[in-house]
Amino acid sequence: MIRETFPVGPLRCNCTILGDEETHEAIVVDPGDDIPRILALLAKHSLTVKQIIVTHAHIDHIAGAQDLKQITGAPILYNQNDLPLVGMMSVQATWLGVETPDVKPPDDNLVDGYPVKLGGMMGEIIHTPGHTQGSSCVYLPSESLLLAGDTLFAGSVGRTDLPGGDTNTLIQSIHERLLTLPDSTFVIPGHGQPTSIEIERATNPFLQGV
Ligand SMILES: [Zn+2]
Repeated sequence: MIRETFPVGPLRCNCTILGDEETHEAIVVDPGDDIPRILALLAKHSLTVKQIIVTHAHIDHIAGAQDLKQITGAPILYNQNDLPLVGMMSVQATWLGVETPDVKPPDDNLVDGYPVKLGGMMGEIIHTPGHTQGSSCVYLPSESLLLAGDTLFAGSVGRTDLPGGDTNTLIQSIHERLLTLPDSTFVIPGHGQPTSIEIERATNPFLQGV
């Protein structure tokens, strides 16, 4: 599998491109900004975007999705529990001091268990509410890979002080849905450095003794 992960935008959201070497199909996760760079990487690997997945509807993760859809024709998928956040996109834009991006409702609702197909590889969406009500992770068991959005970070967890956030729900999501994954699962969070389920279960200060 082809994988490119790189920070985009002022909050350095980790955008990830997943591509299949044989079919040249790709999924783009969290195209928050920097569409030219995303397009250049797709061209470099001769990839065609089949799905645009957004882990949650915060501006730094979703702002470029509509532009990418217009260029590639790929559908945008995210959990519709985040629609209230889409309704306050202009408020989110003032948090960052940027223009309000064009954000529309998803082309399909990214519910728990939603299949993620790329070539012969099968993965699924894990719904992990807490950072936002619609927060979702992309899990690819055959690659031992989890794209965790802003639910779980290396040594930290997602903030819950923004609208739709809830700390107890977040911690419960991580314990019940993420720490139950195999130790060796490589975790790419929505911001910052990668980690693993084993490391976070053992050392993440927010997840000890709960
Ligand atoms: Zn966020």
